[in-house]
Amino acid sequence: MSFNTLGLSDALLRAIDKKGYTTPSPIQKKAIPPILERKDVLASAQTGTGKTAGFTLPLLQILSQGQRLRKRPVRALVLTPTRELAAQIQDNVRAYSEFLDLRSMVIFGGVNAKPQIRGLRNGVDILVATPGRLLDLHSQKALSLATIEILVLDEADRMLDMGFQRDINKILNLLPVKRQNLLFSATFSKEIKKLANGILHHPLWVEAAPENTTAEKIDQKIYKVDQKRKSELIIKLISDGDWKQVLVFTRTKHGANRLSEKMVKSGITAAAIHGNKSQGARTKALGGFKKGTIRVLVATDIAARGLDIPLLPHVVNFELPNISEDYVHRIGRTGRAGASGEAISLVSHEEVSYIRGIEKLLGEKLPSEVVEGFEPVINSHNAEPSQKNTHHRKPKPKNNNKSFNRRSRR
Ligand code: AMP
Repeated sequence: MSFNTLGLSDALLRAIDKKGYTTPSPIQKKAIPPILERKDVLASAQTGTGKTAGFTLPLLQILSQGQRLRKRPVRALVLTPTRELAAQIQDNVRAYSEFLDLRSMVIFGGVNAKPQIRGLRNGVDILVATPGRLLDLHSQKALSLATIEILVLDEADRMLDMGFQRDINKILNLLPVKRQNLLFSATFSKEIKKLANGILHHPLWVEAAPENTTAEKIDQKIYKVDQKRKSELIIKLISDGDWKQVLVFTRTKHGANRLSEKMVKSGITAAAIHGNKSQGARTKALGGFKKGTIRVLVATDIAARGLDIPLLPHVVNFELPNISEDYVHRIGRTGRAGASGEAISLVSHEEVSYIRGIEKLLGEKLPSEVVEGFEPVINSHNAEPSQKNTHHRKPKPKNNNKSFNRRSRR
C-alpha cells in the first residue's frame, strides 16, 4: 500500500516523498482516513510507530483546504508533554507543510518567551505547545484559542503522569466546543479513559501495535544484581559488548548525573538528560548521541519521553520504573523500524515487586540471569557487602533470597 491511496493532496505526497517514506505505517493507514473525514480519533500508539505523521498529515490537509483568514488565527493545537517532543513534532509539521501555505510554530517553557510572543503576533495556523507555556502565554494575552478547529493531545498518558491534568482542563475550557479531537496515548489507564470520555465525541478507536511489539523484536532480559554493583556491571556490559549506542534509564536526576559521571571516568562517553538540564544541554546531549559522539545517554523517564532516536540497539533499565507502563515506554525505544533490539534490566532485590507488576502488564515472564562475578549477595538492607568483597562472594543459599530464586528457576 502506498500513501497515494490515503486521500492526501499532491503537496503532502511530495513532502512525504522528500522525507523518503514509501509505505504508510499501520497507525498512519488506520488514522489518516478517519481524521480526514473529520472524525474524533482515539489512537493507541507509542513513539516509533509513525504516529506524528499519522495526525500531522491529515491535519495539514484539512487546514490547507479550509478557509484562510488574513490574520491567521490558530486553527490547530497540538498539545504534548515535553519540550523535546514539541520540538520534534514541529520539525515534522514544518517538513510536511513545506509545499503548503501554512504557518506553524512551537512554544515550550525553559526558554525566553519573547520570541514566541512575537511569532504568535505574526499569525500561526498550527501551534505545537506544552501545556504550561501555552497557559502562560494565554494569560499574557499573547494568543487566543477561541478559533481552534482541531485539537491533538499527544502522549496523553504521559501528560497525566506529569501532572498536567489541571492544565489540560484549563486549556479545554478555552477552546470552542465544536472542534475535532484526536487523542494519542501509548497506554490506556482508567484516568486516560476518563479524559478521553470527557473530550472525544463518538471517537473511532484506532490501534497500532508498534512494529516492534515487545514479544517479537525486543529481546528482554533481567540481570539480577545488587544495587551497589549496578554501575560496575553496566560499565562491564557496555565495554565487553562494545555497545556503541545505549540509552540508560535511571529513576532520579541525581542518579542519572552520577552514573553518567562514572561512565565518563571509565572512559565511556556519556551524557545525562533530565529535567534540571537546560534546554541547550539536552539538545546538545541528544544531538551527540544521535551522531555517535556520545555512546551512552543516561535519562530519566520524563526527559526521554518522546525522543526520536532511530534504531536503538540497546536500552538498559539501570533502575526499574515504579510505574509498569513506563517500562513499556522505555523498551519501546529499541528495535525500531523493524530492527531487533535488546532491553536489559538490572534488577536488585528491592525491585522484585516492580518486576512482578511489569510482567503482569506484559502478560509474560521475563527471563533472568546472573552475570558471573555479580551474583546478588544481599538479602536484607543492612547486610550490604563492601564493594571489595563482592567479587569473591558466592551466591547466598537459596532460601535466603527467595524472590530471586523463584525467578531464576524459570
Ligand atoms: P514517530 O512515532 O512519529 O515518533 O515516528 C518515528 C520515526 O518514524 C520518525 O523518525 C519518523 O520520521 C519515521 N516515520 C514516520 N512515518 C514513516 C513512514 N511511513 N515510513 C518510514 N518512516 C517513517
